[in-house]
Amino acid sequence: MKYISTRGRAPALSFEEAMLTGLARDGGLYVPAEVPVMSASEIAALAGLPYEEAALRVMRPFVEESFGEEELRAIIARAYAGFAHPSRAPLRELEPGHFLLELFHGPTLAFKDFAMQLIGQLFQAALARRGERVTIVGATSGDTGSAAIEAFRGLSNVDVFILYPHGRVSDVQRRQMTTPAEANVHALALDGDFDDCQARLKDMFNDHAFRDEVHLAGVNSINWARVLAQVVYYFTAAASLGAPHRPVRFTVPTGNFGDIYAGSIARRMGLPIERLVIATNQNDILHRALETGIYETRGVTPSISPSMDIQVSSNFERALFDALGGEGEAVAQLMEELRARGRFAIPQGALEHLRALYATGRASEAETSAAIARTWRESGEIICPHSAVGVKVAREHLGESAAPMITLATAHPAKFPDAVEAATGIRPPLPAHMSDLLERKERITRVPNDLAALEALVRERRAG
Ligand SMILES: *Cc1c(COP(=O)(O)O)cnc(C)c1O
Repeated sequence: MKYISTRGRAPALSFEEAMLTGLARDGGLYVPAEVPVMSASEIAALAGLPYEEAALRVMRPFVEESFGEEELRAIIARAYAGFAHPSRAPLRELEPGHFLLELFHGPTLAFKDFAMQLIGQLFQAALARRGERVTIVGATSGDTGSAAIEAFRGLSNVDVFILYPHGRVSDVQRRQMTTPAEANVHALALDGDFDDCQARLKDMFNDHAFRDEVHLAGVNSINWARVLAQVVYYFTAAASLGAPHRPVRFTVPTGNFGDIYAGSIARRMGLPIERLVIATNQNDILHRALETGIYETRGVTPSISPSMDIQVSSNFERALFDALGGEGEAVAQLMEELRARGRFAIPQGALEHLRALYATGRASEAETSAAIARTWRESGEIICPHSAVGVKVAREHLGESAAPMITLATAHPAKFPDAVEAATGIRPPLPAHMSDLLERKERITRVPNDLAALEALVRERRAG
């Protein structure tokens, strides 16, 4: 299977090349040239399988030119061995017809572990085979960086550097990044905010001499391999509720659109998903875009669901590409307009296509807190603020159809204890396997908001 760029001007690549490349050279995102379809009986057969076996069956056709079946099976086994729940992504009924898909049983307590743990093992296998070593640099507002460090720690063909804004991530998030002792992982506390971290990251990638010298690679949410890993739990959840014979709906707390886009791939593969509901917090560019047809950036307002605080939703470009019938040139023009003017109008046909697939809703700060409190009161479940945004929006759509609604619970409540305590009066404890996190020894490296200093540090610290 070949992967093509959403902007139509970069070479088609194999799965392995697209994974190692990340962003296409024309600025676009890689998507599969065609999406394989699973038959009704293949989907039905997923019910009751171990998560790892279901993952193998769903992902195999996307990667088969790069990874053989036995190799992929071993990679998947290693990726999910560190999850604390035997079913990896358990489903719980929250209220009649409304289910929570718990995606927070991975080592850093957020759904990003599903993709990052897999991509760590895929990188290691591909690089070992090629006899190559890469330097991964990422910027994080919290969850992505901790998931990346946890996934790549101790792997022999990779050095990982994560830039996080000094003083602006939660204690749990910081400690997840600063306590791993392996020599190949480096958490860097940058003097600045998240936008500064992202800007310096971009600068490093744009410094081509440096980029080639250290073999820079990226694992941010536009990496196709991350999207692919997330397709799996749409299948396992739906099959456990009776798909393909019974259609389902999903509500997804959304920021960069990677998670919900994976749902649209599952649907194209034949999973009967009636509707994908985009749930945003007060940073609601996606909600506004689908309501008004105008995609327009505004400044970011910090919220109690910080992993969804975005200005531009990078993976939305993939949905746009699909809605425009795969016209890369049209996508490239809209993205150029966004860069130049901060907005673009979604062409009418594409807007209708998007509205047929996606519904949207938003939750204010007060509504998010109220959803945490109500869920605790009515069902005894403590949910994180991101999941609460989803639950609030899902409830608004419940009555539209009889198909079960599955809301993705994207993080463990203990990762955001302040917001949860403010809403419920209860401070959620860390799960037993990481209850000593607050006592582990930290390694903190402060770095200035300065490209030359950062590049010098990467050169000095990386092993290869
Ligand atoms: C990253 C993240 C999201 C948003 O996911 P996207 O794929 O960026 O849309 C939602 N909730 C949590 C807890 C996250 O870490």
